[in-house]
Amino acid sequence: MQAVKYVRAASVDEASRLLQEGGEGARVLAGGTDVIVQARERTREIDLFVDIKQIAETMSIAYDAADGLSIGAAAPCHEIYGNETVRELYPSLVDSTSLIGGTAIQGRASLGGNLCNSSPAADGIPTLIVLEATVEIAGPNGRRSVAVEDFCTAPGRNVLESGEFVVSLKFPTPAAGSGARFLRFIPRNEMDIAVTNAATQVRIENGSVSWARVSIGAVAPIPLLVADAAAALVGQPLSDETIAAAAAASRAAASPIDDMRGSIRQRRHLAGVLTERTIRQAAERAAA
Ligand SMILES: Cc1cc2nc3c(=O)[nH]c(=O)nc-3n(C[C@H](O)[C@H](O)[C@H](O)COP(=O)(O)OP(=O)(O)OC[C@H]3O[C@@H](n4cnc5c(N)ncnc54)[C@H](O)[C@@H]3O)c2cc1C
Repeated sequence: MQAVKYVRAASVDEASRLLQEGGEGARVLAGGTDVIVQARERTREIDLFVDIKQIAETMSIAYDAADGLSIGAAAPCHEIYGNETVRELYPSLVDSTSLIGGTAIQGRASLGGNLCNSSPAADGIPTLIVLEATVEIAGPNGRRSVAVEDFCTAPGRNVLESGEFVVSLKFPTPAAGSGARFLRFIPRNEMDIAVTNAATQVRIENGSVSWARVSIGAVAPIPLLVADAAAALVGQPLSDETIAAAAAASRAAASPIDDMRGSIRQRRHLAGVLTERTIRQAAERAAA
């Protein structure tokens, strides 16, 4: 483990200043479940941790019907899936946050950390994409917001500039008739990195799909929003044919690699299977 200084930031402005002054070696510390491992294994050169968990805005979970849901970037998974509003209106967030690591990891790990670590296989990101989440970023030049699907740029990389960090994630209130589901495939029951994962949100009105979003992960350098999969669904009643067309679109969008967890062929196949299953299960939630 390299020697790392630790500072607990008391405000958004202080965190931003510390990150900018610290330069390349300064990293935000949220739950630490990725970054402490990276510091110990020296996969990242880190000399300063800026802990953002004392900043109220990064820890709060708040909802109102007009503005939707706001989740502080450092709020731990167990508080997210334990939140009544999240359970009722955003069950796909429960799907993701309740399978990141195990109970101990979920006591620390945050959705902001999952996003900012920017792994192609992150289990939070496809759900954020289909829920149309936006990333609220603070930095030396003030605040800006970015759609989650535009946030990651390459494995481990994202749009954050020097001194910037993520304060919160914002989610619109799901429209009536909407349902969303996240699933992943791993070869064992828990504590593994997704071979492939996927999320879908559909809105069903008058028996037809009026709106959809499909996202797949661990099959490309970044989690993907698959517009062609949604296009295969929208404007028609949900049927085996439209679902098969959406699954084919996901297989076509996937450009996976071979590694110890899965082959290109398996991952592409899984992108289709998980697209199909998440569509069917999202539609069941929409009906409920
Ligand atoms: C045993 C184990 C099992 C795991 N299982 C899973 C799993 O099943 N699925 C999965 O997806 N992941 C898994 N992970 C990885 C990790 O737990 C998650 O990615 C987690 O969500 C990271 O959140 P964190 O708060 O701990 O992030 P941290 O480790 O604190 O931060 C991660 C990275 O993001 C940066 N960062 C954090 N917050 C911000 C912010 N607000 N603004 C800017 N940058 C920020 C940090 O500087 C760091 O580079 C596992 C890890 C372990 C150790």
